[in-house]
Amino acid sequence: MPNKKVRVRFAPSPTGDLHVGNIRTALFDWAYARHTGGTFIFRIEDTDTTRVTDEYIAAAIDTLRWLGLQWDEGPEVGGESGPYLQSQRLDIYAHWAAKFIEQKDAYYCYCTPAELEATREAQRASNQAPGYDGKCRDLTAEQIADYKTQGRESVIRMRMPEGTTTFVDAIRGEVSFEHKFVPDFVLVRGDGSPLYTLAVAVDDILMKVTHVLRGEDLLSSTPRQIRVYQAMGVALEEYPTFAHLPFVMGQDNAKLSKRNGEVSIAWYREAGFLPVAICNYLALLGWSPGEDRENVSMQELVELFTVERVNSSPARFDMKKLEAINADKIRALSIEEFLDWSLPFLKKSSLISGTEAEIALVKSALPIIQERITRLSEIPAMLTFLFVKNFTIEAESLAKVTDKSAKEVLNRSLLELTPLTEWTHATIEAALRSSLIDSLGLKPRIAFGSVRIAVTGSTISPPLFESMELLGKEASLARISSALAL
Ligand code: GLU
Repeated sequence: MPNKKVRVRFAPSPTGDLHVGNIRTALFDWAYARHTGGTFIFRIEDTDTTRVTDEYIAAAIDTLRWLGLQWDEGPEVGGESGPYLQSQRLDIYAHWAAKFIEQKDAYYCYCTPAELEATREAQRASNQAPGYDGKCRDLTAEQIADYKTQGRESVIRMRMPEGTTTFVDAIRGEVSFEHKFVPDFVLVRGDGSPLYTLAVAVDDILMKVTHVLRGEDLLSSTPRQIRVYQAMGVALEEYPTFAHLPFVMGQDNAKLSKRNGEVSIAWYREAGFLPVAICNYLALLGWSPGEDRENVSMQELVELFTVERVNSSPARFDMKKLEAINADKIRALSIEEFLDWSLPFLKKSSLISGTEAEIALVKSALPIIQERITRLSEIPAMLTFLFVKNFTIEAESLAKVTDKSAKEVLNRSLLELTPLTEWTHATIEAALRSSLIDSLGLKPRIAFGSVRIAVTGSTISPPLFESMELLGKEASLARISSALAL
């Protein structure tokens, strides 16, 4: 579609938290809109009121904002094609459904659920493709009157003509669907509520969407949507271009689901993944910046993103790779940024309340852990030694400091550290090295291991000398003394 301003939409049905697959779609939609200087529309498909809740809608909005995928039109932002919640557009769908009936593109269907089930059963038994058999297509006025007196409910069904729908998918190439496998489909339920197929197609046309980038699971719904465009009288050149993104498989090669991996974005947020890491990683699921690169910034994604570079084969989710990217992105943060990301985790763990003094101490401690974590959620454990109120040594570590050589190590350490007038990681290191390694002839792992447990309470901690400097002389020596007393 040359010379037409690109308009892409992300249109989730929030029946739960947005998951990895949704966000990959949102990201590609956003990147494509930004790359082309087009418009990114966010539309909430909430016509299934039994499954969509206000909480999930609010969470979807919050998640997109958190990820930095700002939309140009949509909830809270507005826009010329609003409203952007389908539940607020019901009269529009009703208008089109009535028009389709009038044009005889659609018809009322009075079949009961039991009758539909019987048809399916018969189709199964005779190995026919399942689907509506067209029984109500051409009812007479008498038949209709009769069904009405029986008190039957009616749905509105689209008439699918004989033939084939063919379109060019920007990722998959030419795709065809024979209509014998696309039976007449329901547009409006018995209670008058529209179905996805009606609402999505009407909105994509009315919102002048030029490109539909979405998950491959929706590929088979495309011929039905095209049928709705036809009934709306839309000219061929006004149809959006479809681009169906490859499936995201779980690590075990099964389709990504709750069973095989954490799929909800809310989970990643709590687990301490940065939005830029999630976006960077998800960008690689089906797309590639080329040259085997894996680290891309949001800006580079916008610069480099084209649909031509999207692969049609399924992408596999790999937690290890996501963690590696997250660690890289954490390292790339400035200390101020790292502080901003850290504080919520530290407060949530109740390790700090957020006083100025605490924040200053956190800030000075961050450089020594920045290289050592893969998730922000690891920060509280790393800094517990600095902030914990009642310091105790972990039970399983206890044995290591109470054995004989540890006693000697700790005694000796106290002796060397006490006279230090200048308390820096360099002076601490020099004192401990000369006393424990050079004089006692101990291996660094044994010597420093005991001191580490005495001072931090754990075998895993940020670098020892830096930790002791941060903790201060008084507290460090007091901890060594109490470990000795054990
Ligand atoms: N609302 C649909 C869903 O969440 C997607 C609509 C579309 O992209 O066509 O599955």
